Amino acid sequence: MVLKEFLSLVEVDRYNQRYQQTIADEKYFGMPLPPIVDTEKRLRQKSCRGVAYFSMEYGLATSFYNCYRWLGKPADENYPPKNSVFSNHRLADCSFELKSGEIIDLPIYSGGLGVLAGDTIKTFADYKLPVVGVGILWHSGYFRQKFWYKHGQVPQKMRWDPSCYPGLIPLKNVIKIELPNESIFLRIWKYYVYSYKHDFALPLILLDADLPGNRPEIRDLTDQLYRSDNAWLRIMQRIVLGYGGVLALKELGYNIKLFHLNEGHAALSFIEKCRGRPKEEIASVREEFVYTCHTPVEAGHDRFVQEDLKNILSKEDFVLLEEYGIDKDNLVNLTILAINACSSVNAVSKSHQRVMSHQFPEYKDRIGFVTNGVHPYTWISEEFYKVFKRFSTVFSDIDHNPMILSRAKELKKNKGFRHAIWSAHQANKQKLCRSLEKWGFKQDVFTLCWARRIAAYKRPSLLLYDTEQLVKIARETGPLQIILAGKAHPQDNLGFTFINEMMDKVDKLDADYQHLKVAILENYDLHLAKLLTESVDLWLNNPLPPYEASGTSGMKAILNGVVQLSTLDGWMVEAKDMGIGRIFGYQAVDLGSLTGELQLHMRDDSQELYAALRDLAGIYYKTNNAGSLDLSSPWIDMMVDCIAAGGSFNTYRMLDEYKSRVWPPK
Ligand SMILES: *Cc1c(COP(=O)(O)O)cnc(C)c1O
Repeated sequence: MVLKEFLSLVEVDRYNQRYQQTIADEKYFGMPLPPIVDTEKRLRQKSCRGVAYFSMEYGLATSFYNCYRWLGKPADENYPPKNSVFSNHRLADCSFELKSGEIIDLPIYSGGLGVLAGDTIKTFADYKLPVVGVGILWHSGYFRQKFWYKHGQVPQKMRWDPSCYPGLIPLKNVIKIELPNESIFLRIWKYYVYSYKHDFALPLILLDADLPGNRPEIRDLTDQLYRSDNAWLRIMQRIVLGYGGVLALKELGYNIKLFHLNEGHAALSFIEKCRGRPKEEIASVREEFVYTCHTPVEAGHDRFVQEDLKNILSKEDFVLLEEYGIDKDNLVNLTILAINACSSVNAVSKSHQRVMSHQFPEYKDRIGFVTNGVHPYTWISEEFYKVFKRFSTVFSDIDHNPMILSRAKELKKNKGFRHAIWSAHQANKQKLCRSLEKWGFKQDVFTLCWARRIAAYKRPSLLLYDTEQLVKIARETGPLQIILAGKAHPQDNLGFTFINEMMDKVDKLDADYQHLKVAILENYDLHLAKLLTESVDLWLNNPLPPYEASGTSGMKAILNGVVQLSTLDGWMVEAKDMGIGRIFGYQAVDLGSLTGELQLHMRDDSQELYAALRDLAGIYYKTNNAGSLDLSSPWIDMMVDCIAAGGSFNTYRMLDEYKSRVWPPK
């Protein structure tokens, strides 16, 4: 019965050949089928106030959260290859295996923006909201990072097989985008995102241009995320997401009353909605759009010369674009289009609101903020979850309300709790050290990590600026273990040189290996992010203020009691007085001009970084003196404060704010 209903609502392509076994008996790849049917019906009801959430990328952490079962024959390319490690103990360097036999994460993300989108739609599902995610099926994902001895990164094209990826199904539905010079056919795929409790599921629709009816250049549009060879390609990808997304929602019969744009990439959806309407109606279209801007830097805003769009779009569409999307340099600017198209605009932290208001002074009064968060049930480690359950008199409804973590403060003097979080952390750290056993990583050595996208403003090499100082700290205060990881966008030459520089410096630390171990891990992804954010002692975050819009990896870490060492930027501006670690470095008091060459302040900031690190290492080694634990240590105070702050920097708080401050009232 349920299956029949499902198949009548969702036209699965080649169901009999491929999916008969895995979608049957009230099960969808091992998950309950009824919640899917309920949502599919609900989204089609006339009275439904459906929400479409648009994002270019989604990082759903499908390998460790909401895992589906697949009964068919697995495809080899859907399993991760082994990654290598580059360390200052070159003899040990070989491949590094995190988890074997596990399928890769759905490879349609590149970094923080995608992970945020994934965490957000999981939270929509937890809240049982009628939401549809809209994105793109990237056939080659982002890219796979390979190290090339000590010469840096070699980007490799990755391949995966969507036709046998658990939870993902192709639909029979094909839509057509009609442009003056050609048509684009798009196949629709579906992936379902379940709530934490598996009692609700929402559809994520993924658009795919790789169809025989399209010419090769069009088929390639959904090949690789953030490929930016030329303007035509970038524009066409934004047409696929913006126009294609709206058409797909219509094709599937969903009643959408609100379009939430995650970043400006999908801003052309507004043009699709306005086409053919009289001017008076445009105001009401605007009421249906809200926009979240994540971009702190000029280069992040999508800008195109007008001619390039004129050549592609119809006259009518271009007139709309001229009216709403031209910036002061006379360029088509999708950020400007999104600001003009939407009834509400928000930055992703208080600091980012200030930066955005400075960048777009004429829109200042309309720019609000909702600070980003992370999905607690994805990022809290099992060990810490068990501790929270054990202290259930304080964390009474941790399963429904992660904001309750702020009550960790009440347990600050509780010896049992302090001991429990220290032990949970040790268990997590043990897992990490086991994976790095060949490199001699030890559980009672102070361990810190810098891992995120390699971009100039994030200053990946700051920690290695003056390696002599690092060695000195390690000799005088106690040994250090450092883990570094991150991908540089393949077309970012500067990013490439950072990796190169880091490897070169690490290579030269060969002789200091006894005190100072440095390991650079290849191919940073969700899997590694999970392992690292739950297991190191100290999470380093050193963007150049004010260029970090929010940053989220530190939020994952605090949920696991991992102490922060950070510059004052992004979410840290709001967390600075919460006792979760140390703040150092340059502060963006005066915004001045945000364009032009970055002044990275490497020398001054690295000195401040080393001073803070020496201090923290000292506290750490007083806490954990060769296995003897000082429970009253200020280190454990910081760990407790981290957990308490986790009550604020999560997607539940974030979604409550979207509902009350950003989305229009019912
Ligand atoms: C969380 C996450 C990020 C974002 O890290 P930031 O600290 O915001 O730069 C990037 N990549 C992956 C894989 C992540 O999980």
